[in-house]
Amino acid sequence: MRQLHPFYRDTWAEVDLNAISENVKNIKDGLPKSVELMAVVKANAYGHGAVDVATEALKSGATYLGVAILDEAIALRKADIEAPILVLGYIRPEDVAIAMELNLTLTVFQSSWIDKAKQYLPENLEKRVKCHIKMDSGMARIGIRTDKERQALIESLSHTDKFEVEGLYTHLATADELEMTYFEKQQTRFAQMINDFEREYGEEIPIKHCGNSAAALRFSDRCYNLVRVGISMYGLSPSPEINGVINVPLKEAFSLHSRITHVKKLPKGEGISYGVTYETTKEEWIATVPIGYADGWIRANQSGDVLVQGRRAKIVGRICMDQMMILLDQKVSEGEIVTIIGKNGDDHITVDEVARRLQTINYEIPCIISYRVPRAIMKNGSVSHVHNEIF
Ligand SMILES: *Cc1c(COP(=O)(O)O)cnc(C)c1O
Repeated sequence: MRQLHPFYRDTWAEVDLNAISENVKNIKDGLPKSVELMAVVKANAYGHGAVDVATEALKSGATYLGVAILDEAIALRKADIEAPILVLGYIRPEDVAIAMELNLTLTVFQSSWIDKAKQYLPENLEKRVKCHIKMDSGMARIGIRTDKERQALIESLSHTDKFEVEGLYTHLATADELEMTYFEKQQTRFAQMINDFEREYGEEIPIKHCGNSAAALRFSDRCYNLVRVGISMYGLSPSPEINGVINVPLKEAFSLHSRITHVKKLPKGEGISYGVTYETTKEEWIATVPIGYADGWIRANQSGDVLVQGRRAKIVGRICMDQMMILLDQKVSEGEIVTIIGKNGDDHITVDEVARRLQTINYEIPCIISYRVPRAIMKNGSVSHVHNEIF
């Protein structure tokens, strides 16, 4: 077969690694010296590309990586990333051996998990499996909650020397809200849980952490000695509510682009797309853009704006699986760039604008742009390389 280009379609995302690097450095600069930064690269780095983001974050000052599931940790090790990786979610006890072989750090919160997992590990381990104990201080997702659960876990740990407790952590449910009551309640509970654990376990645990982006940006002096930073590393605010109180400059790393494939002038009263939810109101220039819901550009984006030659153009008619139509205020050539998220001329469609349109949070937007959209990894203004998951 002949040499292939990285991709053959007119729709792509760009991931600006310089923005990732600046964000990591700026967030790190705002932390006390004793606080390390874990770069959270779960979900393919929130859709940005896990290996590239992890590598860039480690170069920029991150010392730990966080992922949600074992498979994501495996992908990073396959790419020869050797930094410590914490799997933030549950892994099955039967899979503990592969985690050990790959030197991963695991989240543990059930005594029964320790009892089962130890049976899947060889005797005479060269190195103990590193664990961070998850404590549920009010998120009610995973973690030990009660004295009984803690005592049982410590009991199980005392019957085996296969595990090393490296960390204690919890997750905050409201760090991105201005109202602080629940945050304070979780802080108090977590401090108590640490105390109880260390007293009964009989050792001080080296790493303690509770802060996501919002806590890292707002209360870095209350985050113990590690913060787990996701959304802000990608240049996005943890919530619109706290925009006014965060001082760290953040630069959006993700943008989404396409090119017009077809342009036509339609007379008044012509229907557009499935169900004819839009009809031209006069003679109108309509262009076709090759992105659709199979790209994660979901149908609820109908009636939103895109940018063409620095001007706004409205998405008209239903978004199809692979294509959509936009209304232009004048004739534009086929091949013209359509910016769906990002800067074009003097205007900027932010991830937050798309999130508002879809009545969701910015986190969801880059995550749902699907495998079918190639990611062009940008360094110093030009394409460094491309990830295309189709072939
Ligand atoms: C996803 C996640 C984070 C990162 O949160 P951001 O708000 O994106 O910074 C931190 N900790 C845990 C446990 C997570 O699951």
